[in-house]
Amino acid sequence: MIGKLLVIGFGPGDAKHITERAKEALQESDIIIGYKTYVDLIKGLLSGQQIISTGMTEEVSRAQEAVKQAEQGKKVAVISSGDAGVYGMAGLVYEVLVEKGWKKDSGVEVEVIPGISAINSCAALLGAPIMHDACTISLSDHLTPWELIEKRIEAAAQADFVIALYNPKSGRRTRQIVEAQKILLKYRSPETPVGLVKSAYRDSQNIVMTNLQDMLDHEIGMLTTVIIGNSSTFFYDDLMITPRGYQRKYTLNQAVQPLKPHQRLQKEAEPWALEQIDDVKPIRNDDAVQASKETAKQLAEEALQMITGAGEGFSHIVKQPIQTIFELAVSPGVANKKFTPKQMLTLSEVVGEEGVMEYTQDHYIKLQIVTSQPDEIVQKLEEANFIISPIGDVLSVKACDFCDGEKKDSISYAEELHERLGGMELPKELKIGVNGCGMACYGAVKEDIGLVYRKGAFDLFLGAKTAGRSAHSGQIVAEGIAPEKIVGLVEGIVQEYKEKAYPNERFYKFFKRVKQVKGFIYQDITPKIKIEAAVCGE
Ligand code: SAH
Repeated sequence: MIGKLLVIGFGPGDAKHITERAKEALQESDIIIGYKTYVDLIKGLLSGQQIISTGMTEEVSRAQEAVKQAEQGKKVAVISSGDAGVYGMAGLVYEVLVEKGWKKDSGVEVEVIPGISAINSCAALLGAPIMHDACTISLSDHLTPWELIEKRIEAAAQADFVIALYNPKSGRRTRQIVEAQKILLKYRSPETPVGLVKSAYRDSQNIVMTNLQDMLDHEIGMLTTVIIGNSSTFFYDDLMITPRGYQRKYTLNQAVQPLKPHQRLQKEAEPWALEQIDDVKPIRNDDAVQASKETAKQLAEEALQMITGAGEGFSHIVKQPIQTIFELAVSPGVANKKFTPKQMLTLSEVVGEEGVMEYTQDHYIKLQIVTSQPDEIVQKLEEANFIISPIGDVLSVKACDFCDGEKKDSISYAEELHERLGGMELPKELKIGVNGCGMACYGAVKEDIGLVYRKGAFDLFLGAKTAGRSAHSGQIVAEGIAPEKIVGLVEGIVQEYKEKAYPNERFYKFFKRVKQVKGFIYQDITPKIKIEAAVCGE
């Protein structure tokens, strides 16, 4: 009879989160070897196998016993909670085998069966705190010198890893978690989200959301995993979430707004990417290549020095504020289309070398500024008399220049619309065109909502399709609206759209679907021939 070692991770502890193969493997075994509490957890899955259960600290003897039994021809299941390869029995079993000169091909067969480790099960219960580069650190200094554990916490904290602390505390080991917190606070904000999960997927499961500063005020024990967020982790509605990337975009409306999926991979959204850094410092010849290698080596050495505590030690490590991209639109005025030289200088100053200034078709310049202080940017732009607006699914007013201000009668209405509605968040971006005479040369009738001032009153156009091969102007729905009524009327239309449109539904689609907005009736002007839909770039 040939023996076999089945090293099984049975997951967090309930029957639903154990893998099919792990269940089979338990059934296949003659003997189950494990820590008593663990054996109890999986008892329901056994069918008369011999059980050898030992105490917590007898891991090495468990591994030795397992190997001995397998060598005698038995099929032996060695069980670990979570994954057997994560602070579990897998390594120990191999260590015992290696010591005996075991060879994979000729020795007893070994199968390691993966399980859901605490980092995964606890993360799932908290929300999505792992998501980005993460590491596990065990605070148990039974088998590892505390000095090394300290170095690892220091390194992980400094490198902004999400950290799952295993074995954070036991009856006797109570200081480790206190020391760990101290180290973490050197690099991370006291408000850094922390999740404490005790006995995930077991009867006594308990979940606590706290932060780095307060985490020790809560119960932490042998069965707790402590998950420390990175510098962008946040709490939302009792969930702990780490964004997939560091990209956080500020707009004027929302302090924090993740990029939309299709924007994520754009080059300008990744100023920190290696390729982009190379763009700034192009490597042109061998000397430069050599220099860059040396810089890399120097950096690596410096990092190593910091971690080993040699040289100047930690004194020059500073907390790096995470820079974000602040995105906004600027224009010289609602009607005014002229930039002053001083405004241009201000733009160049606030955008800096790393930012982007983009001339757009929307009567504004779009700015993407790498900064950790968006408020200061806003202040500087305001001081330079810019009109600043958010970007995204918001309302913007696109007025003409009113013949360089000569046809000025309706300017104040355009400005009032901008003040009252500009930047309003909507299901989809919405542009209101306002033109000061019947020539409408700035194309108000081609915007979602168009206003044309003529003979002392406004004509109203609704539902232009602004782009695509089936683009069309808006339908004229009213002529001669008294100026004092126009702002209220447009506001009513926008409110109705905001309340009733589907997410991402453009105004013209909404108008077509609901057929009537504020009493204005939609007329079908679909062309007689069918126009094939074309996706972007085709
Ligand atoms: N092999 C296991 C880890 C064993 S070390 C795994 O992969 O999950 C023991 C530590 O694991 C505990 O101190 C605790 O930090 C963590 N742990 C294991 N099971 C857990 C559970 N159900 N809930 C929370 N933490 C758990």
